[in-house]
Formats: sequence, C-alpha cells, structure tokens
Amino acid sequence: MLPRFQYHKAETIEQALDLLARNSPDARILAGGTDLIVGMKEGDCTPKHVVDVKAIPELRRLEVGADGGLAIGACVTVNELLELEDMPPGMAALRDAASVLATHQLRNRATVGGNIANASPACDLGPPLLVLGAAVSAASPSGRRTVSLGEFFTGVKRTCLGVDEVITAVDVPPPGDTVSAFVKRRRTRGHDLATVSVAAALGGGRGLRLGLGAVAERPLLVEVAGDVGDVEAVRGAAVRAALAAVAPIDDVRAGAEYRRSMVELLVGEALDLVAERMRGGG
Ligand SMILES: Cc1cc2nc3c(=O)[nH]c(=O)nc-3n(C[C@H](O)[C@H](O)[C@H](O)COP(=O)(O)OP(=O)(O)OC[C@H]3O[C@@H](n4cnc5c(N)ncnc54)[C@H](O)[C@@H]3O)c2cc1C
Repeated sequence: MLPRFQYHKAETIEQALDLLARNSPDARILAGGTDLIVGMKEGDCTPKHVVDVKAIPELRRLEVGADGGLAIGACVTVNELLELEDMPPGMAALRDAASVLATHQLRNRATVGGNIANASPACDLGPPLLVLGAAVSAASPSGRRTVSLGEFFTGVKRTCLGVDEVITAVDVPPPGDTVSAFVKRRRTRGHDLATVSVAAALGGGRGLRLGLGAVAERPLLVEVAGDVGDVEAVRGAAVRAALAAVAPIDDVRAGAEYRRSMVELLVGEALDLVAERMRGGG
C-alpha cells in the first residue's frame, strides 16, 4: 500500500526548491513516478512530502540547437524524446535505448531526468548518454551547476545531487560525425530492465566510447584507445577494455559470469551496429 504523504505541485523551479528546502529531509521529487511510487509502495522510501515538478515549463524543454546539440528538460518523457523528429543521427544510441525502455504506456510517463536520477546501474538512458558526452544541469538554493554524467552517477541508486537539488536538464553536445548504437539483453522478449546493456559511439573527435549498463555499481563509461576510424581495428581492444572495467554481481536478473560473457558479446553487437550505420544501414 502507498504510505500517506503530502502532495505539492510546483509551477516554477523556485517553488520546487522552496518546497524541498522547507520539507527537507522528508521531501522527494516526483516526475513520472514510475520509480518513486513503486519504491514508496515497496517501503524503500517513505517521504512525507512529494514535490511534483512535471508542470515546470523549463523542465519540459526539448530542442536541437543550431549547433546540433540536444537540450532535454528533466521532465521530458521517453516517448517525447522518441517523437523528436530532428534528433541528430549521431545520437542513434539514445533513440535505440529509449525505444526499449519499458513499454509504450510507461514511456508516456517515465522521464529522462527520473531515469538518471534514480541511478539504477541498469537504467537504459545512462550508457547512451555517457558515450554521447551528456552533462546534467541542476538547480539548488545556492545556484545552478552542471556536471558530466560520468561524475553524476556515484553508486547504486546514488548520484552527486544534494537533497535540495533539482535536475533541470540533460544536455547532449553536438555529435559531429559520431556514429552510435545501443544494445540490451533482458530476461524476456517483453519489457524488462537490462541484464546487460552496451552503448558504443565512434567519431566526433572523441575516439571510441563504450557505455556499460548493469555490470557495475553505476553505468560505466570506458574510453578505448586505438585506430578509431575503423571498427575492426578497435574491436579486440574494446572488448578487453570493457572486461577490465566491469565488476558484475549475481542478482535476480543474471549471474556475474553470464554478465561477463554478455559484455563480450554485446560490445561486438554494438560495434557491428555502428559499422553497419557507418555504411549507411542500421
Ligand atoms: C514496470 C516497469 C518497467 C520498467 N522498465 C524499465 C526499463 O526497461 N529500463 C529502464 O531504464 N527503466 C525502467 N523502469 C524504471 C523507470 O520507468 C525509469 O527509470 C523512468 O525513467 C523513471 O522516470 P520517472 O519520471 O518515472 O521518475 P520518478 O519515479 O518520478 O523519479 C525517480 C527518482 O528520480 C528523482 N527525480 C525525478 N526527477 C528529478 C529531477 N528533475 N531532479 C532530481 N531528482 C529527480 C525522484 O525523486 C526519484 O528518486 C521501469 C519501471 C517500471 C515500473
């Protein structure tokens, strides 16, 4: 059963910050609620105050800038992201991941900010946003700050956000000539969290980056050295770098050994998809 709490609806960032400050540490932010409400029902968290930030216009912004960068307001839903017609092709990994996040109905509520703030090691948007070099902007009573997504994730369901901070946006820099892809393994053909996921991005002047989900305490970014113009030339180094970085555990979704073998397989699949897209397919 859902424990009792007081619901507050913020219309502006300032109102949200004020509500959080006045009710801290017993307040939690609500976006789509697809993680928070489940957690409250299961007794994982029992906030006395819930601050709904979905109606704040700044958090609903979604646009591709003149430079090709993408600004995603924290409360943009996963389906709104998928419906963005002019998403730069270099951000294909983000589209791949959004399209396999839960179900269509859930994606109508689930937000981009909620997905990363919840900081599950298996969150689908973490790996693609990491390889695309995304940064997270947040507001607090002491001002605004921006951190790289790599710094943002600090552990299992932990981030660098303070209790008084609200994510305002996730910004993806212009991808340039980046080619990217995301692949995910799950226990069923239907919707499920990842047992392992891998994003890969090549080009954009930043070499080969891998984003690894569900194989460590947080989504991992791995940068791979080598001839970055050629997928085949970096394949072996990419698998070795990924395996050296991961620290999988046994849990209800998969065993650690299975996860290690899936890392090897999925890095290969992600690179195959990148190679196909470089040839104009996929
Ligand atoms: C049946 C089911 C299937 C799912 N399948 C998947 C899946 O396949 N892949 C996947 O990645 N996830 C999955 N999820 C998890 C969930 O849907 C996503 O993580 C979703 O993106 C969370 O977004 P939300 O808006 O619902 O977050 P909420 O539940 O509203 O919030 C989640 C957390 O983030 C905090 N938060 C939210 N917005 C902000 C903000 N602006 N600033 C600071 N903190 C904030 C909240 O306080 C809370 O702690 C699934 C969930 C369910 C119930």
